[in-house]
Amino acid sequence: MPATERVMAIVGAGHVGGRAAQTLREAGWRGRIALIGAEPHLPYERPPLSKALLTGERSAQQCGLRSPEAWRDDGVEHIVATVRALDPARRTLELGDGATLHYEALLLATGGHARRLAIPGASHAGVLCLRTLDDAAMIGPRLAAGAHIVVVGGGFIGLEVAASARARGCDVTLIEGGARLLGRAVPAAIAARAHALHERNGVRVLLKRAPQAFEKRADSTLDVMLESGETLHADTVIVGIGIEPADELARAAGIEVARGILVDEALATSARGVFAAGDVAVFPSRFGAHRIRQETWHNAETQARVAAHNMLGGRDAYRELPWFWSDQYDHQLQVAGEPALGARSIVRIPGGGAEIHFDLDEQGRLVGASGFGPTGAFAREMKLARMLVERGAAIDPQSLANPEVKLKSLL
Ligand SMILES: Cc1cc2nc3c(=O)[nH]c(=O)nc-3n(C[C@H](O)[C@H](O)[C@H](O)COP(=O)(O)OP(=O)(O)OC[C@H]3O[C@@H](n4cnc5c(N)ncnc54)[C@H](O)[C@@H]3O)c2cc1C
Repeated sequence: MPATERVMAIVGAGHVGGRAAQTLREAGWRGRIALIGAEPHLPYERPPLSKALLTGERSAQQCGLRSPEAWRDDGVEHIVATVRALDPARRTLELGDGATLHYEALLLATGGHARRLAIPGASHAGVLCLRTLDDAAMIGPRLAAGAHIVVVGGGFIGLEVAASARARGCDVTLIEGGARLLGRAVPAAIAARAHALHERNGVRVLLKRAPQAFEKRADSTLDVMLESGETLHADTVIVGIGIEPADELARAAGIEVARGILVDEALATSARGVFAAGDVAVFPSRFGAHRIRQETWHNAETQARVAAHNMLGGRDAYRELPWFWSDQYDHQLQVAGEPALGARSIVRIPGGGAEIHFDLDEQGRLVGASGFGPTGAFAREMKLARMLVERGAAIDPQSLANPEVKLKSLL
């Protein structure tokens, strides 16, 4: 049981909030841990929301970051409330019901809000976003076999939802405003393969299309009016057009923000005793003087631990290599590092239908690697690719491209 009334406060009971609370206890904090979250759920992981939860292979309980008993045994106080205001000078938080909480150190783990479309009909009950368990609980029952689903957005979430809806036997049309899927997040060749994979699995993919309005029909289904003049018919529209970092609390408190909360290497914000981590944090890149923001499981998992140690007075530096994966059908996509910093790309075909694109900067140093292929077919190669990017060494491009040369030998 907590021995004192000193409080470590965490705003946002998502992946970061939960893992940070756990880490505080593991690191020996014996005071109170107040984990305050606007959602009614204990911390859970979001990746299954667009995948196994939608296909019915996983239950909501199985998405939990830990079991309810583990939180209880650790004495983590889960407070379901929206934090309305933060006063860094007084070290206080104001909760939605007007209650005030005094903290010793604070972690802002507020994640992001799903971006919404600002077009007529966007608030119709059949137009949904996917960010939370409650969103998934609304979407799941609508993915009945034969249902007409229109997915807006050809990014990771949109594509994963499309794959899950196909697995449930829905009729799926995906519309994307750009000229290719996945924006600039992956090499064009991988985006093209993802496109072909979805078409092979029966998704109608429409590029360079944007919705203009949703009109409700008498039977409660929707007409999706596109800017091109075309009209699609939908039982449900699922919008996956990214998130806005939830930095409003920090901004109102005078903490430095720039589309996210600015933090230093130690994940400390511009206010003493206040840290930020996860989707909301804009942190220094390990590759240069610029800052980045990551919306990934790995970032949430690893930043939470560093932030928790530093809340307790540590000065750990966050130096993790960015990395994420996306599962679609029987394929997987993985990206490590910051491919956008690359000046030159080298393709390696390790076999089994996989491909890995390595990105080298102007100095020939590895800054990124993106892999795509059947799940498992390139897991080992990708693990080594991550290690190579982690080292940031200059590597002979010909060796990288040659599958006969073992990546391990280049480490
Ligand atoms: C559907 C989906 C699929 C994903 N799939 C993958 C994947 O395959 N691979 C991958 O690497 N990553 C994936 N991600 C990304 C990953 O899940 C996120 O990066 C991670 O959840 C971020 O954690 P977080 O704690 O920063 O934010 P969140 O998990 O969003 O938690 C933030 C919490 O803060 C709360 N909050 C905000 N403001 C306040 C306030 N003022 N008061 C109280 N509470 C507040 C919110 O309600 C929310 O519960 C996926 C995300 C989603 C949504």
